[in-house]
Amino acid sequence: MNVIEHLQEHSIKPSVQRIAIMQYLIEHRTHPTVEEIYSTLLPTIPTLSKTTVYNTLKLLSEHGAAQTLTIDERNTCYDADTSPHAHFLCKHCGKVYDLPIQNDAKQVEEMSINGHEIQEIHYYYKGICKECKNKK
Ligand SMILES: [Zn+2]
Ligand SMILES: [Zn+2]
Repeated sequence: MNVIEHLQEHSIKPSVQRIAIMQYLIEHRTHPTVEEIYSTLLPTIPTLSKTTVYNTLKLLSEHGAAQTLTIDERNTCYDADTSPHAHFLCKHCGKVYDLPIQNDAKQVEEMSINGHEIQEIHYYYKGICKECKNKK
C-alpha cells in the first residue's frame, strides 16, 4: 500500500508526520496506542508531540483511513484495517486480536437500520487469549 496515495484517497494532506503515523499503523497490526506510536516515532521525528499523534489518529479515523478502537477503556487503540472485523481483548495481557466476523457483514456504507445511516460497527469480545491460557 502506498501511504501517500492512501492518505490522498481519504482527502488527507500527506505531511511528514501523518505519513509516518499512517505507515506505522499499516506495518504494526497489533492495534497500537498513542503512547506506543509516539515513543517509537520520536527518535526519527524529534519535533513530534503526543498531541500531534493523537490529533493525527483522530483525523485518520474521521476520514476512514484508520479506525479507533475503544475496546480497552483505559487505552484507546488504532487499526489501519478498516474492513469489517471483530476484536478480542485479553483481560490478562491486554493484547487486542483481530477476529473474523461470523456472519458475513455487508459493507458499512450500504447499511441503514430503521432509517439510521450506519457509519461504524464495532464487535468487541473480551476474555483470556490462547497464549495466556497455555501459560497456566
Ligand atoms: Zn493474553
Ligand atoms: Zn483490527
